[in-house]
Amino acid sequence: MNKKQKKMLVRIIVSALMMIGLSFVSATGITGFILYMIPYLIIGYDILIKAFKGIKNRQVFDESFLMAVATIGAIALAFYEKSGDYTEAVAVMLFYQIGEWFQSYAVGKSRRNISELMDIRPDYANIEKDGGLERVDPDEVETGSIIVVQPGEKVPIDGIVEEGNSSLNTGALTGESLPRDVKVGDEIVSGCINMTGVLKIRTTREFGESTVSKILDLVENASSRKSKSEDFISRFAKVYTPAVCISALVLALLPPVIRMLILSADAQWGVWIYRALTFLVISCPCALVISIPLSFFAGIGGASNAGVLVKGSNYLETLSRTKIVVFDKTGTLTQGVFEVNGIHHNELENEKLIEYAALVESSSSHPISKSLQRAYGKKPDRSRVSEIQEISGKGIIAKVDGIDVAVGNSKLMDKLNVPYINCHQVGTIIHMAINGEYAGHIVISDIVKPTSKDAIRALKKVGITKTVMLTGDAKKVADQVAESLGIDTVYSELLPDDKVNKVEELINSKEEKAKLAFVGDGINDAPVLSRADIGIAMGAMGSDAAIEAADVVLMDDDPMKIAKAIKISRKCMGIVYQNIVFAIGVKVICLLLGAVGIANMWLAIFADVGVMIIAVLNAIRALFVKKL
Ligand code: ADP
Ligand code: MG
Repeated sequence: MNKKQKKMLVRIIVSALMMIGLSFVSATGITGFILYMIPYLIIGYDILIKAFKGIKNRQVFDESFLMAVATIGAIALAFYEKSGDYTEAVAVMLFYQIGEWFQSYAVGKSRRNISELMDIRPDYANIEKDGGLERVDPDEVETGSIIVVQPGEKVPIDGIVEEGNSSLNTGALTGESLPRDVKVGDEIVSGCINMTGVLKIRTTREFGESTVSKILDLVENASSRKSKSEDFISRFAKVYTPAVCISALVLALLPPVIRMLILSADAQWGVWIYRALTFLVISCPCALVISIPLSFFAGIGGASNAGVLVKGSNYLETLSRTKIVVFDKTGTLTQGVFEVNGIHHNELENEKLIEYAALVESSSSHPISKSLQRAYGKKPDRSRVSEIQEISGKGIIAKVDGIDVAVGNSKLMDKLNVPYINCHQVGTIIHMAINGEYAGHIVISDIVKPTSKDAIRALKKVGITKTVMLTGDAKKVADQVAESLGIDTVYSELLPDDKVNKVEELINSKEEKAKLAFVGDGINDAPVLSRADIGIAMGAMGSDAAIEAADVVLMDDDPMKIAKAIKISRKCMGIVYQNIVFAIGVKVICLLLGAVGIANMWLAIFADVGVMIIAVLNAIRALFVKKL
């Protein structure tokens, strides 16, 4: 509970006690009026001020205005009719405030819950200085510095292990409880917790560019991207409140006037004004206004707890309607870690071919490049390479020791007019041309992720009607992977542009309401990520461009999380619709009862606070995600 909430609680208790006390004394007339005004002002002064400010700023029709008019009206009526019954007006204010308090408590709690779940913000980084450790602000650590992370501490900045072994808890990032072992040379991302050994890490990024900062940014900005349902609610409230106020006015004036002029009966002003005031209390839209954004907020929080970052509530909405899932192959369904299976060449030795390949690939972030460099085993001497040109979807050309070298697929060889020899082995064939002459090829192959097959099955189970794989790789490899995973349709040997066109085709050929999701690692497919109805990126392996372009980020690259994300989004949308129907339903019933005079103000305020509490509790359900 924060200070404001505590203060509010004190006000609620004091005025409630005073009301109980007052019910034992029979104060009437002016004394009664003054005695009741004390708890009324204690509990309601801020609402009155807000209502007044609203009128002054010409933004009249809000909840505070409704409450102020209703309660002041009820007090005036009691005073005018000399009934001395002010209890109702004070009670309405009291309950309204109890509802507000509850809501702010619940919102605060779920906000805290989310940041606790996402408790990844590091407070400091350790730097070695004069034989000791010094704590510094992670913001001040330059790229390439050595930081020390002790057991129990959070890794503050992305980097590479220089010294030490340890296991890391990546739970806060990925929702995965299994620890990950790291050793010298491994990349580690910030936000993990170091559990066992002391690690010296050479930072590869600044703090602001590190994984933690990116994630925190994403989560903090998520609520600014509003969904259609949220938009609907705020537009609804804008029309609704004035409409209610006008109806109340009509209800207060029209029946008495008709009675007087047409029926020549007693006008019954008091009765109708009271009904109009009741109508105002009933119509307060707070349950809706608060519970819808809260549901989305909780849904986003629940998803991030499961290692799925959703960048806004609109994406939860789209995700829940996804019917087609399109995958990239390399790095998405497969691990993107290629093993060399064969080297076939003319005159050069194996080592030479790999060396040339590694040199040409030395500055690319494509999984193939990384794998070829791993196969080379040494640090390529970059000073030998110049004029590097990466041709996406084809390969790379560069000069090594002043000689032209090309490394890529058959499309690249065609482009360079170099006749190539096709390989009998199944795999991704990396052809090489040196000085315009065909020099041979390296056969590499990738393995599918262990969860890919289950992921496709899980998607079918949640009602995805079509799964598609797009790849720039050779047809043989692509067909084999798709077949082993149970994917419906494959398109292979695509250039990055072809991928966009294919996705566009698929989007145009489906029904408007069914949404298409594209899942990729962002290497050669960032444009597709933004073109799809919803782009899902691999967060750990994926490029920064992917994380930027995507709407949803899977923190641990596990394709199983796609079905999970869809389930989370559906649960969240379910809760949103339940709340809308429930809150509007109860409102309509109460409004009708109020208009014909069956409901009094007591019922009205109970209905309002009750609906709100139930709706808020329901919203918070979205925060909890069952382990699948
Ligand atoms: P995917 O669709 O499977 O993710 P890409 O579009 O990234 O594949 O690449 C398609 C093909 O282009 C690869 O299978 C490879 O043959 C070739 N290629 C792309 N980048 C490189 C590279 N850096 N080195 C060698 N070949 C490459
Ligand atoms: Mg790719």
